Amino acid sequence: MSRFWSHLVSTLDPYVPGEQPRIQNLIKLNTNEHPYGPSPKVIAAIAQASDASLRLYPDPTSLALRQAIAQRESLDAEQVFVGNGSDEVLAHAFQALLKQERPLLFPDITYSFYPVYCGLYQIAHRTIALDAALAIRPEDYLHGDAGGIIFPNPNAPTGRGLALDAVERVVAGNPDVVVVIDEAYVDFGGQSATLLIDRYPNLLVVQTMSKSRSLAGLRVGFAMGHPDLIQGLDRVKNSFNSYPLDRLAQAGGVAAIEDEAYFQQTRHAVMQTRDGLVEGLGALGFDVLPSLANFVFASHPRRPAEEIAAALRERGVIVRHFRHPRISNYLRITVGTDQQCGQLVAACAEILA
Ligand code: PMP
Repeated sequence: MSRFWSHLVSTLDPYVPGEQPRIQNLIKLNTNEHPYGPSPKVIAAIAQASDASLRLYPDPTSLALRQAIAQRESLDAEQVFVGNGSDEVLAHAFQALLKQERPLLFPDITYSFYPVYCGLYQIAHRTIALDAALAIRPEDYLHGDAGGIIFPNPNAPTGRGLALDAVERVVAGNPDVVVVIDEAYVDFGGQSATLLIDRYPNLLVVQTMSKSRSLAGLRVGFAMGHPDLIQGLDRVKNSFNSYPLDRLAQAGGVAAIEDEAYFQQTRHAVMQTRDGLVEGLGALGFDVLPSLANFVFASHPRRPAEEIAAALRERGVIVRHFRHPRISNYLRITVGTDQQCGQLVAACAEILA
């Protein structure tokens, strides 16, 4: 608290990101990073862009990157917005599109940045409880009382996904408000709503290069939707920071989109490792929710999750635990390499023995 803070700042309850440990050699399965590095073509493109041209500002519209994304998704560049990580894109969407008279709806268990943006931008909101199996029920979003709707698909931190027809019911059932689908994890087995964009002017799909393209450190996120929605985001962006993506991020982002083969190969490797991780945890008695993400959400009937997380940490493995009462007995475990997941399962076996 400081007497120099604005009233708003003193009311904020900021997001706390997962730990980025300073100790080396930990098995880091706590922030859903990709276990394999980015495409070598991305590294080469960034190296190539690292020259004297860095004295110049980057393209404020990130046109080449928007075109690359648009081409891959069969959209126009006017239907694509890019930002400094999807967190920034989401923040702009909250301010530009989701701040309305009626409350914004999102699940009670979801990405914990959503209520933080509501605090920052003073957005009225209401949470909708997931069902007993921790799944989103589309019918709960069809009462016609929303000022906007946002949820991740697959949801975080549960990893559970909704089929495209269920997402479409929510979008079609709320034609007068914006529905944002946060697809941070969609490339690990989910169905993307990008296919619906041309039919629903109220749909905004947000994706990131942090997860399936292994570029959390480059900070590239994007949104796709009707040009009117994109222009709304642009108005906020151009009232905030003209150059959210630097030259290296724009060059690396284009190369990441263009290396489709590497993308396919590495996302499938993660999905395959996930299957083994689910099996290994299941054999130890964990209840593991069906995951379409690059993490699993697991609880053990005999040992509190918080204790397991602490014991894992003593063994050099870090996973994420949330204090929210409904999920306080779950661990969110990022899918690492086969070897890392093997070590995690072995450490769990030791802890539970
Ligand atoms: N959405 C969800 C559901 C997430 O879990 C995350 C990662 N914390 C993000 C968006 C933001 O990712 P980034 O800013 O790295 O694109």
